[in-house]
Amino acid sequence: MSAQQNNFYATWRANRPVVLHDAGAPPERLLQAIWRHQRLRRDTLRVADGRVIRVLHPGFLNRESGPDFRDAIIQFVGEPPQSGDVEVDIVPSAWHGHGHDRNPAFSRVVLHVVWRGADSNGLPTFALADVLDAPIEELADTFSGEGENVSPGNMLGRCNAPLKELSNDHLDALLCEASLVRLRLKASGFAAIARQAGWEQALWRGLFRVLGYKQNAWPMQRIAELLPAINDPHSTLHSLQARLLGVAGLLPTELPRRAKSSNDYVRRLWDVWWREREQFAEHSLPRSIWRLSGLRPVNHPARRLALAAHWIAGGKLARDFEAWFAEAPLNSTLTESLGRLLRPETDEFWSWHLNLNSSRLPKPQPLLGATRVTDLAMNAVLPWFHARAMSGGNESAQREVERRWFAWPASEDNAVLKLTRQRLFAAPRRLRSAAQQQGLLQIARDFCSHSNALCEHCPFPDLVKSWTVANATLAH
Ligand code: SF4
Repeated sequence: MSAQQNNFYATWRANRPVVLHDAGAPPERLLQAIWRHQRLRRDTLRVADGRVIRVLHPGFLNRESGPDFRDAIIQFVGEPPQSGDVEVDIVPSAWHGHGHDRNPAFSRVVLHVVWRGADSNGLPTFALADVLDAPIEELADTFSGEGENVSPGNMLGRCNAPLKELSNDHLDALLCEASLVRLRLKASGFAAIARQAGWEQALWRGLFRVLGYKQNAWPMQRIAELLPAINDPHSTLHSLQARLLGVAGLLPTELPRRAKSSNDYVRRLWDVWWREREQFAEHSLPRSIWRLSGLRPVNHPARRLALAAHWIAGGKLARDFEAWFAEAPLNSTLTESLGRLLRPETDEFWSWHLNLNSSRLPKPQPLLGATRVTDLAMNAVLPWFHARAMSGGNESAQREVERRWFAWPASEDNAVLKLTRQRLFAAPRRLRSAAQQQGLLQIARDFCSHSNALCEHCPFPDLVKSWTVANATLAH
């Protein structure tokens, strides 16, 4: 009896169907895995126009909107290496069909990787089908179910080796120092806005930017900048929601006709907005300013603006923050205590709908989860307090902000954190605190974003080595 026959799991794997695309081509996800792991006869690669190509680095898989791989390095023989993005599609015509040619997010694409075919209209096109290093069925078997957490060995950064030499305490200390730099940089940004627009406006801009997440931080900040013009003390929650969504360009352009639970709310928003839209016309944003594709429904800017309307309508958020700061909550209750200030108990519409056109949910959904509370704390609330403490020369307040900064529990990983952890630590090292996560993000910003996938000219490995020597000297 063979090993496979004895192995229930192996038998199951061998017998499961391999998914192939309708047209006989493999699914795009498999093509991405092949490109990512370079399962190609790499010494015989040519693009469609006949030029020989070398793939110096396939790039980093991008799970968000935009091209499939960021920061690849390729070289056409006889030319210098070039860095740019790579888009993977099944057929060349997808470049136009998916609108990549009109999308600025794809402007850095240097190579269009496809299954078969030649023409991507001016873009170097590379077909995988005839240069695989194994039959496609075997590759499908190898990569089935591959997710973003599978890291090929070549992800490792050059700093991985010296970082491995650090003790856990020293590594924590290094992350801690990078994190403190980040807090101070954020705080100086708040201080700069406060000098022009006052502390309260600086706070609103910071909070709104976080609500925009990274896709929509700029339009959100713009709405925060408009608050003095669009808010008045007589506004009700409902009128504020209508005004924010109207100014944002996020109300549907036509009134809904069908009877649906969400339509009544949308009609009532329109009742307010149609009377006001002329007044705010000069401030209104085009709907196209929002990046909505690939967004999780709970992060949709309409939902985030509805939440912000609660904060504004309450009329005392900054004072509530002051009281929270004076209370000095225990480390274990930091997220919960701030969450209580930021999370409205209920919203007649948004507790039951994810979006303006979604059906009623079977049970209510909070307008703000714990992850976003942490984002708001680390990116807005604590840096804002730190900036105020610094500008007032209040050292004890500064120490209290730093205590909370270092005590705040870790949040979810984002894509940058995941990638940086893979490059620096290889193993999925768990970061215990939000401050450590911030420290890692600072390292990514200071070093990875100034280098390339091959870590060329990155000074961080040497810095880590000198850190080791310095700490060893101190220890003696
Ligand atoms: S660019 Fe620098 S910091 Fe980033 S992984 Fe490479 S060596 Fe490490």
